[in-house]
Amino acid sequence: MRILVVEDEQKVARFLKRGLEAEGYRVETAADGKSGETLARSNTFDLAILDVVLPRKNGFEILRDLRNEGHKLPVLMLTARSATEDIVSGLDLGADDYLTKPFAFDELLARIRLLLRRQVQSRTRLTVGDLVLDTISHEAVRGGKKIELTSREYKMLEIFMRNPGKLLSRADLAREVWGYDFDPGTNVVDVYVNHLRKKVDQGFEIRLLQTARGKGYFITDRSPASLL
Ligand code: CA
Repeated sequence: MRILVVEDEQKVARFLKRGLEAEGYRVETAADGKSGETLARSNTFDLAILDVVLPRKNGFEILRDLRNEGHKLPVLMLTARSATEDIVSGLDLGADDYLTKPFAFDELLARIRLLLRRQVQSRTRLTVGDLVLDTISHEAVRGGKKIELTSREYKMLEIFMRNPGKLLSRADLAREVWGYDFDPGTNVVDVYVNHLRKKVDQGFEIRLLQTARGKGYFITDRSPASLL
């Protein structure tokens, strides 16, 4: 697990880096807002610890810009002031948690563990509408009802759910599910999609697996007309 620490106070930054590394985390530090933001954008971290008061760009501005760009990197804000408005604006801007300086290192570790656990769960649970797929246990559940899938059906559903709203051609699905050596000239892809559709959509009002005639298939819980 990689943690980014954006903190201009060298003493605090060194303390955090040493402490977190002793706990087995890989840590990189940035001493100002601009370089911290560049590192945060690199998509190589699992969590960022962001100080509020920073040179060049403050923690709130970094957080605001990251979230506006759609970055979901979990962020724990550090605030030196106990001012409630700081905490509230941080959370409003999309911080996942905060700590007020000075803090106990054990408290920080506990918060980090919680955020990272949440992060792993969100990565291994794919959802489209009321359909949930767990990519660890391979369990599919829709509206609270478990769906039994063969391993190929699971693989196919995972590909659909990793690409919600995206049109997948028969060749895409053949390549992803069966591998490159499969000949998509047969109708085996259509047969599997139909099997999968029965399991996923039968008995539900909203159909998730959609056909784009002559083009392929996609999954969505929104009106398909708005996507094609
Ligand atoms: Ca600072």
